[in-house]
Amino acid sequence: MPERTKKLLRMNYADLHRIYHQPFFDLLKHARAVHEEHWTGNEVQLCTLLSIKTGGCSEDCGYCAQSARYTTGVQAERLMAKEQVMERALAARASGSTRFCMGAAWKGVRVGTQKFDQVLDIVRDVSKLGMEVCVTLGELGSEEAKQLKEAGVTAYNHNVDTSPEHYPNIVSTHTFEDRLRTIRHAQDAGMSVCCGGILGLGETIEDRLKMLEVISNFNPHPESVPINALMPIKGTPLGDNEVVDSFAFIRMIAVTRIAIPRAKVRLSAGRTNLSREAQALAFFAGANSIFYGDKLLTAANPRANEDLRLIQQLGLTAQAPNPVLEAPEADEVRPLCPAFDAKGQPADESGCLAGCGG
Ligand code: SF4
Repeated sequence: MPERTKKLLRMNYADLHRIYHQPFFDLLKHARAVHEEHWTGNEVQLCTLLSIKTGGCSEDCGYCAQSARYTTGVQAERLMAKEQVMERALAARASGSTRFCMGAAWKGVRVGTQKFDQVLDIVRDVSKLGMEVCVTLGELGSEEAKQLKEAGVTAYNHNVDTSPEHYPNIVSTHTFEDRLRTIRHAQDAGMSVCCGGILGLGETIEDRLKMLEVISNFNPHPESVPINALMPIKGTPLGDNEVVDSFAFIRMIAVTRIAIPRAKVRLSAGRTNLSREAQALAFFAGANSIFYGDKLLTAANPRANEDLRLIQQLGLTAQAPNPVLEAPEADEVRPLCPAFDAKGQPADESGCLAGCGG
């Protein structure tokens, strides 16, 4: 077993604060050195994200166009038919995507429901296409996670969004702890976890780093960490928020690369607000995955041909698919994290919300 899987890096808030507040170029240099130590070549993973069930969600996430509680112009749709999803997955593969992510605007899924059976059926077929398969379906229990893994899901996306302290200002219909519980179930089932956050939710720099502290303490680490910048949507409570500053965004990419060196760091929503030059700096700072394709769930994304041009101009190459991607291994010398006891409560009394004793 490689040395790095025996003892995972684990950073606390003070470490992250010190790293984040270095002069910008020192931070970039630091992040680049970590990136080059853990990743070879100049590869970027191309992922396609498809909304397989749009709108009408019962939750009240303050940034989301798909919540039924806000008037945003997004119409509630039914779960896409498998044939339609397969068409989009084949098109994504043909355009060079190596990871196909499917999102559904639900609070969660439960075994024994028709919608969950339909999702499993879709996953079984998509997973035969030779791409990594990621899904984001909201809350999961252990049985749902197990069945998704068996159907062929390689990674489960469930973002923590922001710090535990700021989370209740953004969402009231579920808790930060609920998010962590789902992440535990996904990891227990052997799926990789894709977990990151959103900048621009009215949080402070401290909140951003506390979010990263939680993710950096996961054991095992997430396989990928999407960093989103809010695209303010009219009609949502955060519709008038300011767009995130590019340098602040790149700083977070760099700190994420340093804190979770083996994770793919993904440029996600909000990339349309970054200039080509800012995107190049983000790649230099350690981003090595992008959402690719003209639409991101319900939001705009740079056009695929613009992305390919940028990748080519920077001398980057598209990463090969790894459909048999193994989930990251846990650090053997400390407990799994997030952790919960038999009653579903965080498993230690240290005050660490993630239950890892941190
Ligand atoms: S659970 Fe997902 S789809 Fe539903 S409101 Fe929140 S972010 Fe949007």
